[in-house]
Amino acid sequence: MQKIDLSNARVLIVDDTPQNIQLLGAALKDEGFQINVAMNGEKALQIAQRVLPDLILLDITMTEMDGFEVCGKLKKLDEMEGIPIIFLTARNEIEDIVKGFEVGAVDYIIKPFNLTELKARVKTHLTLKFALEELKRKNQELERIVVIDSLTQIYNRHFIMDRLSEEMAEALRFKQPLSILILDIDLFKQINDNYGHLVGDEVLKIVAQTIRQTVRENDIPARYGGEEFLVVFPRTDLEQCRVVAEKIRGNIQNLKWKQPGMKLTISGGTSQLNQNKLNVFIDQADQLLYKAKNNGRNRIE
Ligand code: GH3
Ligand code: MG
Ligand code: MG
Repeated sequence: MQKIDLSNARVLIVDDTPQNIQLLGAALKDEGFQINVAMNGEKALQIAQRVLPDLILLDITMTEMDGFEVCGKLKKLDEMEGIPIIFLTARNEIEDIVKGFEVGAVDYIIKPFNLTELKARVKTHLTLKFALEELKRKNQELERIVVIDSLTQIYNRHFIMDRLSEEMAEALRFKQPLSILILDIDLFKQINDNYGHLVGDEVLKIVAQTIRQTVRENDIPARYGGEEFLVVFPRTDLEQCRVVAEKIRGNIQNLKWKQPGMKLTISGGTSQLNQNKLNVFIDQADQLLYKAKNNGRNRIE
């Protein structure tokens, strides 16, 4: 993991004593942090939600609303998730310290504090917060990569096979129709041969996009193999599936290509689920695709 940059981190200081705010604010500004201050609990809640700080230093003994209550309220807000709260207080009873952690703080510093130690703790918690955010981002990206085809940016084969099994179980359980369409670009080898592999790749992207734009939100298009696509149509019978398939075929036939003389068509085979057998379901569509090819291509069977 690359080094975590803490500059520009935003720290909210909540304290009802101006001298404390001044001392802390100056020290943390020296570190390059952005500082916001609140002199009471109500203001702290408002400012925290507005500026979404990276860390909050929170006094406990304040009039009106004490720090425990402020912390509890902040922790209930979704947007405050992951924002570390450090109590900074003269209260050194063990009950208070334990309560501080119970209401969700990550650390508890007793006044009078050593400024160097305080800065070290703040930096540690900021580093942890940023590292966790980075990890979450990476995780989301990985989750996406696992299910998305990198060339066409639609679902990949691995995903669609899993999803198809789930949709089959659901369709049978709720006695709803389920259809699929397997599409294969016609004479795609010639596109590669005549225009080059890069144009071939570009064509695959555009075909994938066209399929996605033609189907409804609930339909699930995926790249099934090289120049083959599989579309799953939940709650759709064969007749409706064929209507959409025809629409896709027509839209692809009507695409305008910038390569001179280039024409592109697609053939498809459809299938409606009638028993809980994945192979049979797919084979049926595959055989009809084969038939479409034999019957002259640019058609749906
Ligand atoms: P048919 O109408 O019978 O389907 O003919 P076809 O030429 O499309 O079928 P064939 O299976 O002979 O050729 C498929 C071609 O698709 C061959 C392969 O090089 C190409 N292909 C598969 N994946 C990719 C890819 O990711 N990028 C490119 N550019 N071409 C690909
Ligand atoms: Mg093929
Ligand atoms: Mg083909």
